[in-house]
Amino acid sequence: MKRTAYCASLAVSTSLALLACAGDPDVVGTAEAVRGGGGKADGTEIPADWNRLIAHTRLEIDFGAMAGLATVVFEPSDSGLASFEAGGLEVLEVYSDVGALPFERREGNLHVETGPSDAPIHIRYRFEVQTSSTGLGPAGSTVIWPTYCGNLFPCHSDPADGLTFELAVTGLPEDAVALYPEAITTTTPAYTLAFAIGEYTCQVLGTTTAATEVSVCWLPRGKTRALTGTKHLTPVFDWFETHLGPYAFGDRVASVAADWGDAAAGGMEHHPYWHVATSEMDLPITHAHEAAHGWFGAGVRIGCWEDLVLSEGTVSYLAARALGAVKGPDVEAAQWEEYAEELRVALEDTDDIVWPDSCGEVDLLEDGLWSNVLYMKGAFFYRDVAAAIGADVLDTVFASFYLQYVGEAARMQDMLDHIASETGFDPTELATRWLRSTGNPLDVPTDPSAEPQSDEPR
Ligand SMILES: [Zn+2]
Repeated sequence: MKRTAYCASLAVSTSLALLACAGDPDVVGTAEAVRGGGGKADGTEIPADWNRLIAHTRLEIDFGAMAGLATVVFEPSDSGLASFEAGGLEVLEVYSDVGALPFERREGNLHVETGPSDAPIHIRYRFEVQTSSTGLGPAGSTVIWPTYCGNLFPCHSDPADGLTFELAVTGLPEDAVALYPEAITTTTPAYTLAFAIGEYTCQVLGTTTAATEVSVCWLPRGKTRALTGTKHLTPVFDWFETHLGPYAFGDRVASVAADWGDAAAGGMEHHPYWHVATSEMDLPITHAHEAAHGWFGAGVRIGCWEDLVLSEGTVSYLAARALGAVKGPDVEAAQWEEYAEELRVALEDTDDIVWPDSCGEVDLLEDGLWSNVLYMKGAFFYRDVAAAIGADVLDTVFASFYLQYVGEAARMQDMLDHIASETGFDPTELATRWLRSTGNPLDVPTDPSAEPQSDEPR
């Protein structure tokens, strides 16, 4: 049972003057501009070493001072060195209970000589507003997915290196509301962590069978859209809990509106208070999608970015499935039509395979893996699996997979193996068709008596 920070602020609507720092060119910087500081006293370099995995990070954020104190607990290790991504941070001091620790900044990373002790270390730093969804945004909410956690706190962005969190945000402008979890006790990727500061009003929508309280929080002039989009969020969340297993991030959840700018869309799986772009607050599918990430993406994390389809494809399928279960088969059918159209549109821009067979080699953004093609092909892959084994059987496969891997990293191949071992149905052919081929399988008839089609990718 976790305590949460936002409930105390429920229904508080204020005339918060948004962030004194927003728009101030003196404090809007890039990672490049703020690197520096640190170093060993004798001038020698501290070798980079990533073998100290992070187990837990406690973050104390002073919002007014744009300063942070990170207390990091490591997994047991023989190494006396620890490295972090910290590209957007000005590191002021690194110390443990026995005193100051030597540290060095190199290529956006922070290297610390921790010594052989497993004692926690403390990193005092300053951070800045980032202008392009790569840290704390000008409107007061954070986005650090996929690899930008180093603009907010010293971290490992590798999704396989999960950790637990404590978070406290102080130094708010008068009457400001900050929405964030005080603790995340299930091991999760670094990008799960977020806070949102703004003129929020929150409303409890309902309570699920498992006694999870579901809320929605909106920004000024956002109430109607927020309540439209979350009308069925409680039963949808209930469906996830009932069909996939116990939620791992506490007994209070919320869809939180995030102002990412006019061009922004989608949402972000910051459990238990996931964010939805203000432009999509009226879309039930977006709320359902982000909620489903509590099970896949945040609950079960991916082993490499190449396995992103295990997160995004799975929840795209589950969002349509849950909405259909709650609102009826016509709604689900319409959602699949929309997905089909989204896939066609996305394929006009990019057409690469969505499940590369490497691990840790692909740059998610630079190499173009992150596209709606991945989300939609992942969803359609599962729809074909469901057609073969039954959607209700696939629900039970997801549930047993989640039970096995919650709090752990998993690969997409693990999911294929799990489907095969649980049901006797080998989904490899469908995975090849949907995840390891280009083109649009929806355009290719599966009926063997149909006209032969060209093999050319389209
Ligand atoms: Zn997603």
